[in-house]
Amino acid sequence: MPQLRTTIALPMKKLGIPAILVAIFLLVWASCGTPSSPSSTTPPVTPTNTSPPTTAPPAEGELAIHFIDVGQGDAILIDLGETEVLIDGGGKSPGVVAYLQDYVDGALEVMVATHPHADHIGGLIGVLDAFEVDEIWLNGDTSTSETYSQFMSAVNSEGAQVYEARRGDTIQVGGLAFNVLHPVNLSGTTNNNSIVLSLSYGQVDFLFTGDAEQEAEASMLVEGVVPDVEVLKVGHHGSNTASSPDFLAVTGPEVAIYMAGEGNTYGHPHEETIEALLAVGAEIYGTDIHGTIVVTTDGTSYNVQPTNIVSPVTLPATSPTTPSEPDQTSRKLTTSMAVMPSFFIGKAMVVLN
Ligand SMILES: [Zn+2]
Repeated sequence: MPQLRTTIALPMKKLGIPAILVAIFLLVWASCGTPSSPSSTTPPVTPTNTSPPTTAPPAEGELAIHFIDVGQGDAILIDLGETEVLIDGGGKSPGVVAYLQDYVDGALEVMVATHPHADHIGGLIGVLDAFEVDEIWLNGDTSTSETYSQFMSAVNSEGAQVYEARRGDTIQVGGLAFNVLHPVNLSGTTNNNSIVLSLSYGQVDFLFTGDAEQEAEASMLVEGVVPDVEVLKVGHHGSNTASSPDFLAVTGPEVAIYMAGEGNTYGHPHEETIEALLAVGAEIYGTDIHGTIVVTTDGTSYNVQPTNIVSPVTLPATSPTTPSEPDQTSRKLTTSMAVMPSFFIGKAMVVLN
C-alpha cells in the first residue's frame, strides 16, 4: 500500500489525458477512502526542505514518535501527552538535549539504552544531566569505553529506577506499554544484545530494533515474538548485517526508517538493505536524507513527516547498457521529487482498517 505516491502520476503521464480530466480523476480518487489512499483531509505541504516538525505539543490522544537526526546514531523520542520515553540518545555531539527541551514536560519518564555503543549512549549523558529521569532500562552489557564509564556514572547518580530489560518484560508508562522482545540473555555480540521493543498504539504498531543484527532477528523469529508492524526502525543503521529477508517478511513494514549520518564511513544504509525493504513494499525514510522524521498517530491512522521534504528512498535506476560493478562510490541511494505531486511528499497519511 505505500506505493500510492509513486503510482499516481505515471499512468496519466503516459496516457496524455487532458489536464481537466486529470483534475477530475484526482478529485474522485482522493475521495475514495480506500486503505491505500492518503487522507483527503491531509493539507498540502509547502515543498521546502527547511520546515521543521512542529514543536507544538501533540493533540490529546495523539502519539508522536520523533526519529531524531543525530548524524550516525539512534535517538528516538516517544511522546504521548505528558509522557515521554527516549530510546537512545545518539553520540555526545551534536547531542539531543536541545531537541528534547521542546517536548519533554517535567521529567523524562523512561530512558532506554539499547546497548552501550557510543552512538547510542553518548548523548544520554547530557540528557541525564539536563532532565530528571524516572526509569532507566539497560541491557546490562558493559564496555571499556570512556563514554560508557561516563554514562554509567550519570546513571548511578540520577536516582532513577534502573532495570535490565529481558524478553517478556513490559515497560509500562503512562498509556504506553512497550514489549521487550530481546535480548533473552547477553549471549550475543554487543549489537546482538540490543534491546528490541515493540509498541502498539491502537491499530498502529511500531518496532524499535536498536542495532540488532540477523543473529538477534533469528532468535526472535524462532520464538515467534516478531510482530507485523506498520513502522519499523531499521536495525543497525540500515547495515546489511541486519534486516534479513525472513525478518522483514514477518515484520512487513509499511514504513521503514533507518537512522544514519550523511556520508558516514560505514556506507550505511547498505544497498542490500534498501533492496530488501523495497522487496517487502516498505516506504523508506532515512535521517541522512530526510533529517528528523516524526510519525504521529491517533491509533487509527498515521502520518509521516520528514523535516526535509524529499521523496522516500529508492535505488538508483540501473542502466541497461552498464553492467553493475561493485563500485561503492557509485552506489548512492537516490530520491526523486520528479514523479510526485508536492502535496504527497511531506505527509503520508495511511488509514488502517
Ligand atoms: Zn549504532
